[in-house]
This record gives sequence, C-alpha cells and structure tokens, in this order.
Amino acid sequence: MVARPMRVAVIGSGPSGMYAADALIIQQEIPVTVDVIDKLPVPFGLVRYGVAPDHVSIRSVRDTLDKVFDKPGVRFIGNVEVGVDISVSQLQEFFDAIVFTYGASRDRRLGIPGEDLDGSVAATDLVAWYCGHPDADRKTFERLIPSATAAVVVGVGNVAVDVTRVLAKTVEELIHTDMPEYVFETLRRSSITDIHVLGRRGPAQATYTTKELRELGELLDADIVVDPSELVFDAASNEVIASDKAIARNVEVVKEWAKRTQSEKSRRIHLHFLSRPVELRGDDRVREVVVEHTELDGRGGSVGTGKTFVISADLVVRSVGYRGQALPDVPFDATHNVIPHLDGRVQGDCAAVGGQYVAGWIKRGPTGIIGTNKKDATATVASLLADAANLPAAPLPSTEAFDDWLAKAGLQVVGNAGWRAIDNAERELGAVSGRDRTTIQSSQDLLRAAQVI
Ligand code: NAP
Repeated sequence: MVARPMRVAVIGSGPSGMYAADALIIQQEIPVTVDVIDKLPVPFGLVRYGVAPDHVSIRSVRDTLDKVFDKPGVRFIGNVEVGVDISVSQLQEFFDAIVFTYGASRDRRLGIPGEDLDGSVAATDLVAWYCGHPDADRKTFERLIPSATAAVVVGVGNVAVDVTRVLAKTVEELIHTDMPEYVFETLRRSSITDIHVLGRRGPAQATYTTKELRELGELLDADIVVDPSELVFDAASNEVIASDKAIARNVEVVKEWAKRTQSEKSRRIHLHFLSRPVELRGDDRVREVVVEHTELDGRGGSVGTGKTFVISADLVVRSVGYRGQALPDVPFDATHNVIPHLDGRVQGDCAAVGGQYVAGWIKRGPTGIIGTNKKDATATVASLLADAANLPAAPLPSTEAFDDWLAKAGLQVVGNAGWRAIDNAERELGAVSGRDRTTIQSSQDLLRAAQVI
C-alpha cells in the first residue's frame, strides 16, 4: 500500500469519468487524489456535446457532475490531449493508476456508394455543430442546412430521433436552450420541409426510447407520417412485444401515428421501417437516396428484398452509432472498438496491464443512458481500490511536478478556476438574451474566458 494519497488520472470528463472520480473521492478507506484530464477546455463530454440542448432536464445532470469538482482532491485538467500532448507512459510516471473514460466519439459509416458526397454527414458532426463543440464544422452546416429541402436520417436510435427533432423544430421551440446563436441563425434559414427517418428493421426492433420517440409526434410545425404497410411484425417481433413493455409502448406509438391524417403544418417527418439505404446519388451534392425494402428474418434481423425506391434528399445524416478509438500504449479491441478489460482492469495479450482501468463507452461500447455509466464506473473503481494494496510503494513525482511538466510542455491548461470562469461567462452570455446559459463555441473564446490566454 502506498503511504501517501493514491494519485489517479481519469482520462475523459464525460459522465463515466465524473462518476469514476466521484466514486474514488467519496470512499473513506483509501486516501485518493484525482486529476480528471480532458482534451477539451471544458468538462462533461457528451452531457455538454451530445445530449440534445432541448432536453433540458437530462442536460441538468451536468450540475450534479459539476459538484464533483467542488470536492477536495478532485482537479480538472482541461485542454490536455492524452496521446498527443502527453503519452500514457509519461502519465504513468505521475500517477499510480489511470482510468480511461474517453468514450466513443467517432461515427460509424454506412459503407455504401456515394457516402462521401457533399451533403452526406455524420450525426455526430451535426450534433457537435448544434451543441457548439469547439471542433464543429460550422461552415459546412451553415451552408448545407439553409440550402437543403429534404433530409434523410439513417437509423432509428435516440441520436437519430434527436437530430430529426432538432431539424424539424421551429427556432421558437429551441430558443430557450443553450445552443450558440449561430445555430438559431442557421435553423431560421432552414428550408427543409421533409425529413425521412430510415429503420432497417421493423418497429419492434427500433432502439429509440418511448419518451424520445413520442416527442416527434408533438412538434409545433411538423407532422409525423407513418405508412401502415411498414408496420410488420413477425413471430420474433410479437415475442419481444409481449415480453418487453418498452418495446410494446414504442409499437403503440407508431401504430397511433399510422392512423393520423396530415395537417397544414409546414414540415413532415416520414418514419420508415424495413428500409435501408443502398446508395447515395448526386452531382456536386447528394440529391437522392436509393432505399431497399427489407423483410424481417424471423430472428430479430432483416434481409434485403432487392426491391428499391428513391427518396429525393439533399441532406443525408447517418446516425448509425458511435465507435471508440485506440489510444497509443493502451490495448485495443479493433473488432468491437473498445479497450479490452476484465472487471474494468485493462487486459493486455495475456494479463491485466498494471495500473490501467477503463469505464464507460470505451469499456462496453456506445450503449445505455447516462445513469448506466454510474454503475459501470463504480464497478471499475471497486476493482481499482481492491488493487490499491499492490500498487508500488515508491514515491511518485508530486502534483506540483505534474503541473510543472504541463507548464514546461507549453500547454494552456484549464483548471478548476478556469472552468468556473468559463461557466460564469456562459451564464452571463445567456442572461443577455434571457437564457440560463449560451454555449461558447470556439476554443479560443473558451480559453480567453478561462483566462489562460
Ligand atoms: P443506437 O441506438 O445503436 O442506434 C443506431 C441505429 O443505427 C439503429 O437503428 C441501427 O439499426 C442503425 N444502423 C446501424 N448500422 C446501420 C446500417 N448499416 N444501415 C442502416 N441502419 C443502421 O445508437 P445511437 O442512436 O447512436 O445512440 C447511442 C446510445 O446513446 C444509445 O444507447 C442511446 O439510447 C443513447 N442516447 C440516449 C439519448 C436519450 O436518452 N435521450 C439520446 C441520445 C443517445 P439496427 O438496430 O438494425 O442495428
């Protein structure tokens, strides 16, 4: 057992990282200090840059996560990219243990012809744009959205529902959120009238949740359109409907929508099932999506029928899941895009890698709700604490030595005080237009608000 407090670095300040930091700091048995390191100048990962801004109550989780930084022994080390600014092996010289909680930030691809046409984008990029992520490709979305008339969203998970809802809402329905001003300006100029959402399996196999789904049918100026002929249920579907109340509720919602008649609203959301894109066609930009009808295979999957139809669309958003990325010096399972582990202990070829742990999406893949990460991170921390007795007794360089290293590397680190200054600046910016907060988007502006430049 080490005589001084154990020093733990948590890599990534999204929900799993913050829950891991909290689990480490609230336990009484082993004295611990935690540095939560994030490549961005601001904490909270997908709570800030993934949860839809109009889901105000889910986003308020960040107030809970923020309280972790008030606890003695927890520091935010923002604007430091592990694997770029500092390697994992360098980090190991300063910390007894490292917990990787950097999530799964990359998009998955469709692998179909035309996917790289202009106007074909990843949901992750669209979400980053409307949440005000520092890396958001503003030029692309501020050009594409005002010039698009119809969009196709591929996938029927909650992210697909989020992007569909944001594209279908009026600005008045979003104006209370913390979206940056440029998002409102662009959405105000949107000429999108039709949004087609494609599920490649049936209504009983969609992965969205009922609460999120229902919102699509309650929008101010968008109708929801469901073709009753696509509501197909095989024996496998009926089995899951009978055994899973959440799926039964999802199915009831779409059945009710299939009976609706269209109103005079200016936008339409067309929810398609048994439909998968096979090709994007266009010229200087995507113009149409070739969609193949599928049929259920009796085992919960679907197969192509060879029958196709065409949807005219000049914006295609693939929302087919996230994937994790490898970090140099850390084992990686390239098939599942996760860090291999046993009970949260990172596994090398034959054994656990001493001092390395993993939690969240980079541990189990991009699934579950925010709360799922609490249980997950707590379980990983339990493994870490159980190993504490075996940590090397040799004194490690101090906190100050780590800070000196970062300073000598010329890094503009945003600490707890810097984050508090950004937080205040965003609240003040929001107050100007009567909102709780407005997200500051650019890195430069964030660093300026943090007073590190
Ligand atoms: P997801 O739920 O896994 O949805 C991915 C969707 O893409 C599925 O409909 C999937 O269909 C489809 N898909 C995958 N590959 C495809 C392909 N090649 N062609 C056509 N369709 C394809 O993932 P997600 O929507 O990215 O969400 C990630 C996680 O975050 C989920 O756990 C989600 O619940 C959570 N989340 C929650 C909220 C919320 O609680 N409000 C909001 C956003 C995200 P198959 O099912 O047929 O593979």
